[in-house]
Amino acid sequence: MIEVFKTKNIGFCFGVKRAIKMVIKEAESNDKIYTIGPIIHNPQMVGMLAQKGIKPVMDIKNITDGVIVFRTHGIKKEEEDFVKQRGLKYIDATCPFVKKVRRHAIMLKKMGYKVVIVGEKEHPEVKSVLSYLDNDGIVLQKPEIIDFRKIGVVSQTTLEKEYVLDIVKELLKEAKELRFFNTICDNTWIRKQEASNLAQKVDLMIIVGGKNSSNTTKLYETVKKIQPKTYHIETDEDMDKDWFKGIKRVGITGGASTPDFLIDMVERQVKNF
Ligand code: SF4
Repeated sequence: MIEVFKTKNIGFCFGVKRAIKMVIKEAESNDKIYTIGPIIHNPQMVGMLAQKGIKPVMDIKNITDGVIVFRTHGIKKEEEDFVKQRGLKYIDATCPFVKKVRRHAIMLKKMGYKVVIVGEKEHPEVKSVLSYLDNDGIVLQKPEIIDFRKIGVVSQTTLEKEYVLDIVKELLKEAKELRFFNTICDNTWIRKQEASNLAQKVDLMIIVGGKNSSNTTKLYETVKKIQPKTYHIETDEDMDKDWFKGIKRVGITGGASTPDFLIDMVERQVKNF
């Protein structure tokens, strides 16, 4: 029988747990709840919430009643303004760590720094932070020199410290003054450490999480470098029995937005192979 090992930090992170709890509580007394975009990057959980009447909408202007949920990654400033101007009911489920990125970025701008957000241009968290700067900021995904002397840097919460530091070091080549707020979420780092350690002790690793989840994808990329037999799956149905031929020890971990029930299903299925 295959032995299964899981990382200590598995299942929802603090921010996701908090957001899901908030919406499920609201759903007890309200049957029209909308999230702007998916509340978290996990299609299976978003599907489960939809059955409780919690539905993602892409355009906030289509909402005229019900309760609007500001998702964990944060929403854009213009969306928040729209909700407040219309007097719509809302729940702010933005992760407090994401709000910290925003707070530092706004403060740096007020202090006269050119704000650099290290992160993925298309990630909702980055788009949200940028919008609170009235789009007056620079998003950097790779080391680049920019023509500003006074630079303030924040980072997307789910990035690797080394990756962010490489970009900061490059900025220092031209900057006369640079302030850097380390806004990387510890949870992401801890999960990577635990997964990397586990990957060295097993014959195969399974990373469970949404294919649209940035932190899950990065977790997969990190672990794959250590254990070539690493697979990123969304559910137990994505697994192939052939992967497990001759395998004795399997490690399982998941991204910050992966619910426990998906992990449990994967664990059961692996033990059945
Ligand atoms: S990974 Fe960190 S920043 Fe992102 S939602 Fe979870 S606790 Fe918040």
